[in-house]
Amino acid sequence: MKISDIRNEILRLKKEKHTCIAAHTYQSQEIKELADFTGDSFALSRKAASTDADTVILCGVRFMAESVKLLSPSKTVILANPSAGCPMAEQFTPEDILRFRAEHPHAAVVCYINTTNAIKSVCDVVVTSSSAVKIVRALGNKEILFVPDNNLGSYLADCLPDITVHLIGGCCPIHSRITAETVAEAKRRHPGAPFLVHPECRPEVVAQADYVGATSGILDFARNSTCSEFIIGTELSVVEQLSFEFPEKHFYPLSSSLICPDMRLTTLPDLLGCLRGTHGEKIVLDSATDAGARRAMDRMLELG
Ligand code: 13P
Ligand code: SF4
Repeated sequence: MKISDIRNEILRLKKEKHTCIAAHTYQSQEIKELADFTGDSFALSRKAASTDADTVILCGVRFMAESVKLLSPSKTVILANPSAGCPMAEQFTPEDILRFRAEHPHAAVVCYINTTNAIKSVCDVVVTSSSAVKIVRALGNKEILFVPDNNLGSYLADCLPDITVHLIGGCCPIHSRITAETVAEAKRRHPGAPFLVHPECRPEVVAQADYVGATSGILDFARNSTCSEFIIGTELSVVEQLSFEFPEKHFYPLSSSLICPDMRLTTLPDLLGCLRGTHGEKIVLDSATDAGARRAMDRMLELG
């Protein structure tokens, strides 16, 4: 089939089957153009919960499909490519987290939304990269254990110096690739271009930023800025999306290696296969863990 035929068939079947397509910002442009909505993982879960579609096809990685199912338990949620996982979200087991918990008995356990439901279920509250500072401040604990991302945890510790933040050594292998030297070189080549960075990057990279924020924050900063060039410290899809939105402006990536391979696994034939019932994986809630995960998500909604 030609790309144009696949696109048309996806649009036809999506309507016929009352299905919505949710795509994370890191998906390819051709997937995002067919999606009913795009966004970060929490935005996708919220938007999916508010649609009247019975079925949601999630183009992203497994933990995102699990979060969508957690907030929309009565909907059918399909992960478009079942091989797409997040190495950071799957780096630790719930047993690991319980062991760390036991080492810090007075700490509230705060987990990044980039974790499995099984991990969320043994934590006290979930945060997103955009809400982490606000939620940890509202939590009121003087001591937290932050899982799994050391870099986001270090950023939290910097923003909230009165709180002791214990870390467990996890990280995003993509964002962690960015070094302070790469940033210094990009700044030398593009003086005057603001440097926008995701807090999943290393502290010495974040320290050089003009703006630190989640994917949605970086997009909004660039959209609302009068500058004509920017250095973008996150996954390359963000550079691509901004270049489509503002073809007259310049968005400089830090390295051509900043591609999350799991995020790029989803293809148009996968999407078509999901709509035809031959591809994708239906996400099933696990009653042993999902009540706990839902409690930690609800705590985030209360505090955020
Ligand atoms: P956000 O989209 O929530 O900023 O997270 C970035 C990321 O790495 C998603 O996998
Ligand atoms: Fe996971 Fe990093 Fe890929 Fe996001 S970019 S899905 S955090 S590995």
